[in-house]
Amino acid sequence: MEPGFDLANPTEEHRMLRDMVRNFVQEEVEPQAHEHDRHEKFNADLFRKLGDLGLLGITIGEEYGGVGMDATAVAIVNEELSYSDPGFCLAYLAHAQLMVNNLAYNGDEDQKGRILPLVCSGEWIGCMGMSEPGHGTDVLGMTTSASPLEDGTWLLNGRKMWITNGVIDDGSTPADVCMVYAKTGQDDDGRQQITTFIVERGMEGYSVGQKILDKLGMRASNTAELVFDDVKIPSENVVGKPGESTIHMMRNLEIERIALAAMAVGISRRCLSIMNQYASEREAFGRQIREFGQIQRHIAESWAEYRAMRAYVYDTALNTRLSESGNRLDSDGVKLYSTTAAKNIADRAIQVLGGYGYVGEYVVERLWRDSKLLEIGGGTLESHQKNIARDLGRDSTPINN
Ligand SMILES: Cc1cc2nc3c(=O)[nH]c(=O)nc-3n(C[C@H](O)[C@H](O)[C@H](O)COP(=O)(O)OP(=O)(O)OC[C@H]3O[C@@H](n4cnc5c(N)ncnc54)[C@H](O)[C@@H]3O)c2cc1C
Repeated sequence: MEPGFDLANPTEEHRMLRDMVRNFVQEEVEPQAHEHDRHEKFNADLFRKLGDLGLLGITIGEEYGGVGMDATAVAIVNEELSYSDPGFCLAYLAHAQLMVNNLAYNGDEDQKGRILPLVCSGEWIGCMGMSEPGHGTDVLGMTTSASPLEDGTWLLNGRKMWITNGVIDDGSTPADVCMVYAKTGQDDDGRQQITTFIVERGMEGYSVGQKILDKLGMRASNTAELVFDDVKIPSENVVGKPGESTIHMMRNLEIERIALAAMAVGISRRCLSIMNQYASEREAFGRQIREFGQIQRHIAESWAEYRAMRAYVYDTALNTRLSESGNRLDSDGVKLYSTTAAKNIADRAIQVLGGYGYVGEYVVERLWRDSKLLEIGGGTLESHQKNIARDLGRDSTPINN
């Protein structure tokens, strides 16, 4: 590798993508971020502009309306959006990574040809339903189920909880399209077999159970409970072979975790930038506060952690092939490390700003609230610890590679 090689911008195309998103964020995302957080409002009009920029289909082939980029590009977009508005970014991630990328890598040609152009343009807003009221980390224990009928259709029943973009307005309009995981049987060892169903708005029995309000953070994204009550799913809306979606779910969780870790990079960079500037501007006892050792520690530790997470995130992204699973160790590892580091950096930023850090105008309090979700969504810290310890127990070669 040449000196000066930048893992976070490995090609000219990546650099151009970053510049483009950064300009968009400065001009369009930043001015609305505070208001939408305060009023718990999802900005659907701004979201659709992401479609005009090609970002909703960032990993999707051009033939379906996407731009055909890689995991590094996913990290870049999530980092840049989260520098300004992690809540808005979460809505993006749920659509572009959890729904669109999922269908692109697991769906058939008919499904992709029919649905991807609509979700890549932003005409349709999508979501993914995995978690349930009674099952989160223990995802394979899900109770949402589907059974085949004689005419080849399936009957889907159950509830999905905490679904980002599950509702898309201030009323109770559900997402235009939802990738829903449901159990459809058991294998010979008694393990649940999972199948993905494409549920579309207008299907009878598909509705919003409740819009989840008063969240700590990520308030610019909508979260909902979705209800599936005898929803009749035509066979053409079954993704892959029935019973084979555990692998779809696991593969898509890898890119989800990298994207969430990249959000942590964006939050950290912004917080570091704010605390660094403030430490030069603010004086106490006749000196800039950056001259005090305790403030230096906040800035220096944040810098080192930010640099470490940036390297780990972009190294993991560079080594991730979206069409394959097998990067679980690092997709868990990078999310485990980056999310708590981001929360700590946001916390230090508030501390450096003192009372000003505690109010919305100075941004860091919002980023601090938003950062907490990253330790829960897409897998809790404890689930990453469990997975990493289990994987290294089975095969320790990655340690000495
Ligand atoms: C704002 C928001 C948006 C979300 N968006 C989506 C979405 O779009 N789609 C979706 O499907 N889900 C979504 N989720 C759900 C999210 O993925 C789950 O909240 C998460 O997986 C944890 O599940 P849970 O909340 O049921 O907690 P639980 O799994 O019940 O966990 C409770 C506690 O027990 C711990 N725990 C559980 N099992 C173990 C174990 N074996 N060992 C040690 N500790 C354990 C957990 O780590 C946690 O601390 C979202 C959640 C939020 C809050």
